[in-house]
Amino acid sequence: MDYSSSDQRSVQDRTARELVWTSNPTFQGWTCSQCEWNYALPTLLTEAEARTAYDRLAGAKFREHKCAEHLSRMDAADHDSFTSRIRRMVAQGFKPKDAVELFLQEVALEYRGQPKTLAQAKVEGEDFLRRVKAGLI
Ligand SMILES: [Zn+2]
Repeated sequence: MDYSSSDQRSVQDRTARELVWTSNPTFQGWTCSQCEWNYALPTLLTEAEARTAYDRLAGAKFREHKCAEHLSRMDAADHDSFTSRIRRMVAQGFKPKDAVELFLQEVALEYRGQPKTLAQAKVEGEDFLRRVKAGLI
């Protein structure tokens, strides 16, 4: 709270934008938290190794893109994606593995009787751990 104004600016610079994993019925891939930039996951990509290569590439593309050249992101639809929920738990101090486990327990209660949503949550949890393991997050 007592940052000097210059410190505040540098914090904002660092946190200005974020690579966000988005998964919904119409789109699966990486997006920017600040603009409409995105890097869709090719549907053929199912192998873990190929997925990791794709994640790395997305990270590089993300760093290269300029938010100013894209439309700014208007909707906050990604905010409560499964992956961002896991990330929030990790930010709160949970180990990634514990966070995913807890997250899946919560989801199992929230989405009882919705096997498709539960399966999606499980996939996202596994993806999350794979990225942690690959050193991508
Ligand atoms: Zn952007």
